[in-house]
Amino acid sequence: MKAGVGKLLKKRFLYQFPGKSLKNPIRINKDIINVTGATMSVQYMCAGVRKVLAVIDSYYLSGRRSGDTISRANAPAALSVKEEPVSETNISQNVKARTADIQKSTKQDKKQNDNREGQSSEVKIIKQTRMIMGTFAEVSVYSKDEKTAGQAVEGALDEMERMDRIMSNYKQDSELSQMNKYAAKSPVHCQGELLDVIERSHYYSELSGGAFDITVSPLVTLWGFFQGKGHVPTDKEIEKVLPAVSYKNIVINKNTGTKKVNTVFFKNTQTQIDLGAIGKGYAVDKALEIVKKFGLENACINLGGNIYVLGTPHDKTAWKIGVQHPRNKGEILGYLELRDEATATSGDYERFFEMNGKRYSHIINPLTGRPVAGTIATTIVAPTGTEVDALSTSLFVLGHEKGLELIKKIPNVHAMIIYEGNDGKIIIEMTKGFADKFKKSPVKGEDNVKWHVVASHKQ
Ligand code: AMP
Ligand code: MG
Repeated sequence: MKAGVGKLLKKRFLYQFPGKSLKNPIRINKDIINVTGATMSVQYMCAGVRKVLAVIDSYYLSGRRSGDTISRANAPAALSVKEEPVSETNISQNVKARTADIQKSTKQDKKQNDNREGQSSEVKIIKQTRMIMGTFAEVSVYSKDEKTAGQAVEGALDEMERMDRIMSNYKQDSELSQMNKYAAKSPVHCQGELLDVIERSHYYSELSGGAFDITVSPLVTLWGFFQGKGHVPTDKEIEKVLPAVSYKNIVINKNTGTKKVNTVFFKNTQTQIDLGAIGKGYAVDKALEIVKKFGLENACINLGGNIYVLGTPHDKTAWKIGVQHPRNKGEILGYLELRDEATATSGDYERFFEMNGKRYSHIINPLTGRPVAGTIATTIVAPTGTEVDALSTSLFVLGHEKGLELIKKIPNVHAMIIYEGNDGKIIIEMTKGFADKFKKSPVKGEDNVKWHVVASHKQ
């Protein structure tokens, strides 16, 4: 590195993080507590572990090869993680280490929580992590009252687990799976959170002109994302599935009949719902309600990079949320300074497969039936978890021109979109409101990145 460039980087770095140096850099989980866009799904770890176990089973233990060191007794044990169907992705090198860290930190947190019952004069951070919805869920609370804070953290995590039991389409007995099974035959009863999230999804479908659509499920399956085995379908296969994919196929009847029940009916026999693009954000909002019920005012709820921050960390003016670099793993583009707001990122690097040198991402354009190409990542800041989750996916599908036009019309919503420019460079565009909250970090390969701030909101 040229001496001048190093000096410049150092200056910028010190300006952003007073007290830090290049030798003592920003530490994720220390200086920056959470990172959006870092969905490191446990599904993919399970995929890897299963593959290894299958190889051991069929290759070594079957006797087809005389493994001189491996026997069933000393074969590696599967990691104790939740079982979910597996998918292909950019499996993170850090996942295993992170899981071990979490298991360790959860134990430590519990021990600390157990040791210090009740009130203390000092404000402390109480934090717990669990695997929920196939990803990491973490709730952190600052409080003097550790007992209440501990209960709030547990309650918030329990609430996110409850949402998973309602909205999962991997769990056969979830309310959603039952609806997917029967709603094309006859109207099924639907109430509470499931009805609420379906209605909100309808709103975002209308708002985005159909870019956001929870009936993409048959396409998610067709492209192999549900099963975790990437597959490029033929045009004919796509055309066959497309009539099933429209939010207009979902008929909601509220308070109908003498029994005054709400029902949902699918007009197309192949229609299926997938809440992957909104469920996590919704669950974060529900967890927030629990934290607030306990009277707490300073908290951070993170479900796989869908984050809500309440108040500020103790003695700080804002929560610092790192935004992951979409191409350089383990690096952040910068960080957001947030208070009483949510953020979420959708990325083409979170779940994808590559075929003949082409990347197919898990976010699908419901109108074409094909994975979105060109958009790399989108990050939204808005007042609620549901909004950021639904809008980050919507912006991803709409792309920078149409997408930012839409975002600029919505009050209190700020966005950043990263996409491939014609010259192969990565273009990062953000609204003025986003730029005001975002502090850029020096990143590797700066020459290949163009930054733009676009006009502020049209309100
Ligand atoms: P997110 O990471 O929040 O952008 O959500 C992506 C997930 O939502 C995918 O893995 C699919 O399960 C589902 N999905 C894909 N495309 C769409 C779409 N256009 N609208 C709604 N959900 C989608
Ligand atoms: Mg989303």
